[in-house]
Amino acid sequence: MKFIADGMLGKLARWLRMLGQDVKYSTQLEDAELISVAEKEQRVLLTRDSELYKRAIAKGIDAFYVEGRTEAEKLAELAERFGFPLMIDLKRSRCPACNTTIQLTPKEKLAGKVEKNTFKYYSEFWKCPNCGNIYWQGAHWKGITATLEEAKKIKGS
Ligand SMILES: [Zn+2]
Repeated sequence: MKFIADGMLGKLARWLRMLGQDVKYSTQLEDAELISVAEKEQRVLLTRDSELYKRAIAKGIDAFYVEGRTEAEKLAELAERFGFPLMIDLKRSRCPACNTTIQLTPKEKLAGKVEKNTFKYYSEFWKCPNCGNIYWQGAHWKGITATLEEAKKIKGS
């Protein structure tokens, strides 16, 4: 399953990438371009714009109208509709910034590239081979897990 998200769904795109979904996202694409990329690359168009949604459906494009207010609500809707687990497996995660699959990277290779205490405290790091961003399950991880747990509850109800 591949997606393309409209310019209003940047945060959602980042979440979906962390969950391992292939999501194209750019704030530069006009509606017509979103539709043509969705068609050409067989991507499901995710949008919060009802006009765009109707245009896409009228052209036979697979589109999903995202209604949720919070990220947890949006993720719950999407997981329900597309049947992917609300669980992050970093082996499958994509870089939230650029959509490239991230790679577990030997710690030694990252010496000097992450803050000293972070380097000392954590043992597993992932690197994006495209943009070079480095990821680890740091302090923010609790918040990520909490949002996913909330999404699972919404989905279950
Ligand atoms: Zn990247």
